[in-house]
Amino acid sequence: MEDKAERPAAGAGSAAGSNAERSAGAANRAGAVVGTILRRGADWFAGFGTEKSTGTKLFAGSGHLNRPCVVEDAVGIPLKTLIEEHMGGVRGGWGNLKAVIPGGISVRMIPAEEAEVAVMTYEDLQARGSGLGTGTMIVFDKDADLVKAIARASYFYKHESCGQCTPCREGTGWMWRVLERMVEGRAEKQEIDMLLEVTTQVEGHTICALGDAAAWPIQGLIRHFRGVIEERIDRYATKPRVGEPLMVEAAE
Ligand code: SF4
Repeated sequence: MEDKAERPAAGAGSAAGSNAERSAGAANRAGAVVGTILRRGADWFAGFGTEKSTGTKLFAGSGHLNRPCVVEDAVGIPLKTLIEEHMGGVRGGWGNLKAVIPGGISVRMIPAEEAEVAVMTYEDLQARGSGLGTGTMIVFDKDADLVKAIARASYFYKHESCGQCTPCREGTGWMWRVLERMVEGRAEKQEIDMLLEVTTQVEGHTICALGDAAAWPIQGLIRHFRGVIEERIDRYATKPRVGEPLMVEAAE
């Protein structure tokens, strides 16, 4: 309509994690139940949730859950309650939980011990280095290959980059290629910090939020599961894999 290339405009979605994100999120959430809010009043809606994260929200659960689904509940519901009471629990029981990405693939994951006590609010999840995001949590049990999962997410962001900003255009592909090697362990340990450094060069240095979204899942993986990557590198060093790579490029 504006006779311009179909690319994100400056600032598009770049408010992730900010007060603007909360406002936009609140507007979206309120929009979903606006009829009821008009009938019952804003105070009624604000009565749900916590002081800083009010209202209700649609929460989605996918991954290693017994009953992946979408439910509406008050913002502020404990993450464990959401999984156990609405989503049938973790496959193999709560003790089989390895990690959760609480706000969707564009936020940092938290390990099981934090998921145990996490609350689905902006403030609690931000304090844990993650975020409420879209509330579309992804659950990983102990059988999950987290390095592979995040490598796959990186491929998605590389694929979706519109190429407008250099950090995103070059960084998403670079991060994916390094992670693809790390899935096998075909990397040097010093590359873990190098990868982390590149995520910080992408994060906050792009026009839209896709750069942040590409960086944060990798940061979550390294923050909580660096040891898994290191073990894989050690294993590969003693027994290099020959033949086909473990991970192949996802279909276009
Ligand atoms: S951050 Fe990525 S997707 Fe967003 S405008 Fe820049 S290059 Fe395009």
